[in-house]
Amino acid sequence: MVGLLLGFALVVIAARAMRGQPPKAPVAGRDDPRWQKSAGEQLTGKSCAECNDRILMEGDGRRCKKCRKPVHKKACSKLHKALAHPIAGPAPYR
Ligand SMILES: [Zn+2]
Ligand SMILES: [Zn+2]
Repeated sequence: MVGLLLGFALVVIAARAMRGQPPKAPVAGRDDPRWQKSAGEQLTGKSCAECNDRILMEGDGRRCKKCRKPVHKKACSKLHKALAHPIAGPAPYR
């Protein structure tokens, strides 16, 4: 009897394989936080708008709020603001 059941199970498995239906595999997590994080802006490898050097680490760079260009967070952000977006007279916004 056991052998019959085993045979039946094998037939079912074989039939599924022939119809090309792969056994259900869990879909690689759409809720995985790693995916959501990487959906953000990638600055690594971009050239700094101020010094033209590459931004080597994600934490090193930021995007200029005004022109959206990548700049080094520490060294170039202020310089870029002063040179590229000088504050002249009354603030244009507000
Ligand atoms: Zn820079
Ligand atoms: Zn800018």
